[in-house]
Amino acid sequence: MIDVLVIGGGNAALCAALMAREAGASVLLLEAAPREWRGGNSQHTRNLRCMHDAPQDVLIEAYPEEEYWQDLLKVTGGITNEHLARLTIRASSTCRDWMRKHGVHFQPPLSGALHVARTNAFFMGGGKALVNAYFRSAEALGVQVRYNAPVDAIEMDGDRFVAARIGSERIEARSCVLAAGGFESNREWLREAWGQNADGEWPADNFLIRGTRFNMGVLLKHMIESGADAIGDPSQSHCVAIDARAPLYDGGICTRVDCVSLGVMLNRNAERFYDEGEDFWPKRYAIWGRLVAQQPGQIGYSIIDAKAVGRFMPPVFPGVRADTLPELARLLGLDEATFVRTIEAYNAACRVGKFDHTVLDDCHTEGISPAKTHWARPLDTAPFYGYALRPGITFTYLGLKVNEHAAVHFGGKPSDNLFVAGEMMAGNVLGKGYTAGVGMAIGTAFGRIAGTRAAAAARGLRNDIQEDQHATS
Ligand SMILES: Cc1cc2nc3c(=O)[nH]c(=O)nc-3n(C[C@H](O)[C@H](O)[C@H](O)COP(=O)(O)OP(=O)(O)OC[C@H]3O[C@@H](n4cnc5c(N)ncnc54)[C@H](O)[C@@H]3O)c2cc1C
Repeated sequence: MIDVLVIGGGNAALCAALMAREAGASVLLLEAAPREWRGGNSQHTRNLRCMHDAPQDVLIEAYPEEEYWQDLLKVTGGITNEHLARLTIRASSTCRDWMRKHGVHFQPPLSGALHVARTNAFFMGGGKALVNAYFRSAEALGVQVRYNAPVDAIEMDGDRFVAARIGSERIEARSCVLAAGGFESNREWLREAWGQNADGEWPADNFLIRGTRFNMGVLLKHMIESGADAIGDPSQSHCVAIDARAPLYDGGICTRVDCVSLGVMLNRNAERFYDEGEDFWPKRYAIWGRLVAQQPGQIGYSIIDAKAVGRFMPPVFPGVRADTLPELARLLGLDEATFVRTIEAYNAACRVGKFDHTVLDDCHTEGISPAKTHWARPLDTAPFYGYALRPGITFTYLGLKVNEHAAVHFGGKPSDNLFVAGEMMAGNVLGKGYTAGVGMAIGTAFGRIAGTRAAAAARGLRNDIQEDQHATS
């Protein structure tokens, strides 16, 4: 019998598999996707948010534990478990040497990459290179990997893991790590979680999925139905406003449109609906998907003028361009009169001080609602650009409740041999909101803990069995 079964093929699963193997366990990893689509959402990532008290290779200055914690506290509005959050934060300061050992390389951020040179370490070659390196290292160490292996059920004996099932096939192991992602790829479940709005719309029908199509939440649902303790609100997620022309799945990072804070955001009625300058873009980009999801037709329009060009990462697809505001409204299919009225009201309300996109500057509006509290400058310089944006769901926050050992809980009691990592438990730390690079920090911290614990649990069981055999022989 295999010692440790790891279910999933993304960052959390790979960290768990590598740690378990390094601890001497035999490991089998089951990835739902075919080999060419392996790596889940992790293949789309770029960086890891890292605590550090002094400059470290690609990271400048310092990003101490307390500041990281305050950032998390702010974006989650306090819906986080401080103990598990601090554990994640501390682990992020020590994991990079281990990552390098398994072939992950880091690079300084390119310009325009969300202003995160101080806080985030970027993967050379992105998440695709990271998962490829981990798979390579895992296989070299003797981890067995099976692709096209979607586990649909877990067999338990009380709170003890016994076996995983793929259809009629049954795979026993001494311990197990669940790292099969959230349910963001499951459009039916998203529909159910978001429900119908007051206008009779089903907002989730207009969501695009930024990452993998394989995170269907099958095991998450199965475990919750089997009595595992759950945490989080099913409608909470990391949800970004992305280019409405993005594909339904796997559009990845290049479909993001990062100019919201440099202009205004309008809804289908050509009206503003939220403070575009509330905070730095890395702390705010992930709230805009949800905000757009709450607007009629689940569509938003980011409007900028020529002054913004060159100040944000250029999107892959060019925006709609016009020399006048009425023309831009027409090209975007928005009511011309309302559009012009909205922009003129905004322009008149701007109190421009010293514009500086790298600090919370003093350019703000007065006398309009919603206010724009920073980086408010009139949209008065042609050409003007507009980008239609849709909610782009990254990952869901409903998950399984854990303790610091990454153990799955049943009725408040931790399982001895079933562990969980990554998106499947990220909701313990992320009740809502997001700050760039925390997803990989959670997956790396808990993946490594889960792998270590699963190996120890398997070793314990193996010793029990050997003792039994000695006793009976
Ligand atoms: C476009 C994009 C960009 C992102 N950028 C960043 C970033 O720069 N930094 C950051 O920190 N986070 C980023 N994230 C979030 C990050 O991807 C996740 O937080 C992290 O990858 C989660 O890792 P995971 O291993 O839990 O899930 P995943 O990497 O999604 O892995 C889940 C795995 O489980 C497999 N699976 C699913 N169901 C089953 C099943 N039933 N049986 C077997 N296998 C199954 C899937 O095929 C997949 O391999 C980004 C996400 C996206 C979509």
